[in-house]
Amino acid sequence: MTRRTKIVATIGPASDTIEMLRTLIGAGLDVVRLNLSHGDLEDHLDKLGRVRDAAEDAGRHVAVLADLPGPKIRSGHFPDGGVSLDGGTCVRLLPGDGPSDDSIIHVQYATLLEDLRPGSRVQLGDGAISMTVEEVTVDAAIARIETGGKVNGQPGVHLSSDMLRLETPTEEDLVLAEAVAAAGVEYIAVSFVRHAADVERVREVVGDRARLVAKIETRAALDDLDAIVSATDAVMVARGDLGIDCPIEDVPHLQKRIVRHCVELGKPVITATQMLESMVSAPSPTRAEVSDVANAVFDGTDAVMLSGETAIGRDPVGVVATMATIAERAESEASYRQWANRLGRAQRELSVEATPGNRITMALSHAASQAAMDAEVAAILCCTRSGRTARAMARFRPEARMVGLSPDLKMVRTMALTWGVEPMKVETYESTDEMVWFAVEKALAEGVVVHGDTVLVLAGAPGRDRTIVATDVLRMVRVD
Ligand code: PEP
Repeated sequence: MTRRTKIVATIGPASDTIEMLRTLIGAGLDVVRLNLSHGDLEDHLDKLGRVRDAAEDAGRHVAVLADLPGPKIRSGHFPDGGVSLDGGTCVRLLPGDGPSDDSIIHVQYATLLEDLRPGSRVQLGDGAISMTVEEVTVDAAIARIETGGKVNGQPGVHLSSDMLRLETPTEEDLVLAEAVAAAGVEYIAVSFVRHAADVERVREVVGDRARLVAKIETRAALDDLDAIVSATDAVMVARGDLGIDCPIEDVPHLQKRIVRHCVELGKPVITATQMLESMVSAPSPTRAEVSDVANAVFDGTDAVMLSGETAIGRDPVGVVATMATIAERAESEASYRQWANRLGRAQRELSVEATPGNRITMALSHAASQAAMDAEVAAILCCTRSGRTARAMARFRPEARMVGLSPDLKMVRTMALTWGVEPMKVETYESTDEMVWFAVEKALAEGVVVHGDTVLVLAGAPGRDRTIVATDVLRMVRVD
């Protein structure tokens, strides 16, 4: 059985040569993440070209996800060599970009003193240093350090998202979104989403050139989760910032809630951040990290993500291989059948709000999930132009192999993020019959099925005006 959970890996200085990319793809990388918070656009577009070449060399369909920076607040520069901020001491926070030290910290955010109040929490870096504001005067906010540590350079400053006046997406995000959409990436991630409208603003720029991933990392997003999930094409549980904006002990529960909601609705969901963090510098993961990856698989996540581990780590290929091994092992224990039964029961409730077309897709994919089990099919072949048929089927986490077939290369790559879907390109078809036979022939040629197998083919048939409104074709085929 091939691995069903997909691996997203961020590429950076440790992993962005073509040789390295080829090896990473060979080790199991499905989706490459370009983190636009670091480096310049030209550099990222060069990397995109190398990813395309490496994937072609490896004979694999790999998707590319460009992650927009979003509003980032930085502190003023700390002296070279860094300074220690000691727990229990007080610092003065001042708006502006002057220098910072162990008593004064400049914050590049003009309305700092208007937005902070006594009791507000402020964190530096990835939340490693935290402080609480005790008093706000006309020229500074006085904050007491709770968790101290060493700071270098210009760390990011995290203010609670419900206080922030900064807009998401920023003007810079929209410029970057246009550039990466024009360059052909499959996915664009929107950072610090608070409302569905934030996703829609990026959609206005990007149109249907790329799919959008809403990063859930603010408390406000949790209050508008249903609308955000409806507005987006995919979701990332961005646990790094989520664990700063919300109590850290809430993160595992929020992860489960978000993943479950997305799987039910057929929106691919990525579980991200610190999954194998210790492997940035160590040759093997901690037991806790191995459990974290396995638990994300048990939650039903479509994909697990690597950040610094592959961007700047000591052994990016070893990390991807380790993640693949942990995911495969976890899948062998996961109770997918139980998941399918539960989702089957929830169908009627879920489809109440659905459009007639979506209701047909939900019903037929549900029927296909049952039929695949009853007939013990060797594979489910999803013929799709929009990816919807494959995503609807993947919701049921079927045991049979699932192939996503499309004549459109971009859609084939896009399917690399969806749980269990093995993306394949087929020739353009003219009729439903032709589509079914192209799909079966492709699955045979790729060794997914053999003569004597039964396969299930699922598709949407074009209506009179050639558009496809629903997944409405289910065929069982005996491969003779
Ligand atoms: C996160 O916060 O977990 C995340 C993935 O976002 P970024 O790496 O862009 O901070």
